Amino acid sequence: MFKPAALAVMKKKRANFEQIVEFCRSPRAFLKHLDAAGVDRAVLINYVAPEVIGFTPEVNQFVANYVKEDTKRLIPCGSIHPRHTRNVLADVEQVLRLGIRMIKIHPPHQLLFPNDYLHGVKELEIIYRAAEANGIPVMFHTGTSIFPGARNKFGDPIHVDDVAVDFPKLKILLAHGGRPLWMETAFFLVRRHPNVYLDISGIPPKSLLKYFPRLEEIAAKTLFGTDWPGPGVPDIKQNLEQFRALPLAEAAREQILSKTALTIWPA
Ligand SMILES: [Zn+2]
Repeated sequence: MFKPAALAVMKKKRANFEQIVEFCRSPRAFLKHLDAAGVDRAVLINYVAPEVIGFTPEVNQFVANYVKEDTKRLIPCGSIHPRHTRNVLADVEQVLRLGIRMIKIHPPHQLLFPNDYLHGVKELEIIYRAAEANGIPVMFHTGTSIFPGARNKFGDPIHVDDVAVDFPKLKILLAHGGRPLWMETAFFLVRRHPNVYLDISGIPPKSLLKYFPRLEEIAAKTLFGTDWPGPGVPDIKQNLEQFRALPLAEAAREQILSKTALTIWPA
């Protein structure tokens, strides 16, 4: 589905792109790769973003089929795009029926603000209400994106503040902690709202404590991820090893690597 310019960004600086193609085809091959990296479970991020990346609503069916190989280890994340749905209620129902276990909103790629429901985009409110009622978390991409056509004004996590206030039972994950521009905003939101979590994927582990010097204070609501195969994330295992090497208390490390995710998606 990739648009050529987006695909070029994916391939750049990646020697073994064929490996990713193989993993998209074969969940079994990907699970073996996770075994070798020492990873039990993976959330597979998919979202509808026809304008910037090329992804259509077909991603939901794709990931639902993909995870059938092992539904304990592979957690499907899907999406509904307010401007690319003809019937939002029907699409919400389909996503629930497919067993999608997280909804991704990617503001810089979907070209919308998380709180646009306050300005007439009623579909967003319906999506959040359905997620809240069904105990499905919503992950927002926060921070910049280097894909051609991405609009970074949408990446400021402050717009998620409204969502956290208006949907207090909705579990909200701030992907990438607003890196590299808005870490203080992300840290504030995680501390301010009981329903807001920090996802550290896409942050080079070596920069993590520079970006979040008080990370241990919010460890109970922080979860590990890699954002692989995103640009700038060469390898899952290497990412995990670099995280493990950080000077964190053992309890905080365990919390971030396993326990927080287990409270969101119990094993
Ligand atoms: Zn993202």
